[in-house]
Amino acid sequence: MSKPKVAFFDFTSCEGCQLAILNLETELLELLDIIDIVEFREAMSEKSDTYDIAVIEGSFSRDKDLKRLKKIRETAGVVIALGACAHIGGINSLRNNQTRDEVQRIVYPDNPTLYETNKKALPISGAIKVDAFIPGCPVDVGEFVKVVKNLVLGKAPGLPTYPVCVECKMNENTCVYEYGKTCLGPIVRAGCNAVCTSNGGVCIGCRGLIPNPNINSQKDIMEKYGLNMNLIMDSMNLFMTEENKEV
Ligand code: SF4
Ligand code: SF4
Repeated sequence: MSKPKVAFFDFTSCEGCQLAILNLETELLELLDIIDIVEFREAMSEKSDTYDIAVIEGSFSRDKDLKRLKKIRETAGVVIALGACAHIGGINSLRNNQTRDEVQRIVYPDNPTLYETNKKALPISGAIKVDAFIPGCPVDVGEFVKVVKNLVLGKAPGLPTYPVCVECKMNENTCVYEYGKTCLGPIVRAGCNAVCTSNGGVCIGCRGLIPNPNINSQKDIMEKYGLNMNLIMDSMNLFMTEENKEV
């Protein structure tokens, strides 16, 4: 049986997720036992007009990208959004709270219109249907391998549906709310082994919300620690577009 052909594409992003995948060593070789990579701009010059799985990094932030995205969708049987930018808008979502004129002036003060951009940065699902996603900024490469293997075998992606708090507690951390900080761990998807809260930080939501996040529980926590719920809504602005922070 022939191996599925996989092509990688990038839109508005830092390309850090693709780089993380290239840094995979033995796992990438193992993955090549079950897939053929036919296009990956960061790694090879070959291109392909046909592929079974498209892995798309970056958010949809320019009208002119719509045509390319639609073409990818028409060609691929399966479209995977790779990383926070493609999955939930990612760090590009920050610009959505400013006008396009402001954003253009800040980025290119001498020639603002050089900065082509839509009114808003959106996840790839804002332009085309997405079949699966791999969360994170950057992605967890082990999770990338797992999701691709599962999809090739016709299984569900297998992402955790419980929140970061679960992994944080398994790591026996003291909750950062005890230190007066705000954390999105109660409502954000686990799978990163609570890397931020286990290393002196807080969860800032790069993996997006879990399905059916328990917002009432988050409200109770904020009330218990005398914190304003607006802090949570503001924290979500860092990685999530409006559509992705609806709870
Ligand atoms: S630090 Fe954050 S992730 Fe950890 S238990 Fe507290 S709220 Fe949950
Ligand atoms: S703890 Fe939160 S911000 Fe940090 S990697 Fe995990 S999901 Fe992302």
